[in-house]
Amino acid sequence: MSEPRILLCYRKDDMPVPSARSFTDACSKCGAAIWVAYSSPSDAKRICLLCAGPILKDPNTKLEVTESIAADAVAIMKRKPQ
Ligand SMILES: [Zn+2]
Repeated sequence: MSEPRILLCYRKDDMPVPSARSFTDACSKCGAAIWVAYSSPSDAKRICLLCAGPILKDPNTKLEVTESIAADAVAIMKRKPQ
């Protein structure tokens, strides 16, 4: 059995230009426009960094995320009031 995978994506609001070749999609939680890299796994659930807060704190979540994106997510969550 495989766990559901979560792909963290930058919101277009937070990153006007994507760092990798990306297409746009909508966050599966809040519907915000997000960047999805073409190299991302297609079977992962895509969520924006703002929705990732509670998920990042859940040790059972298997994240498809690089350490740099995780650091950016923390920075963005600190910057924006919930
Ligand atoms: Zn979202």
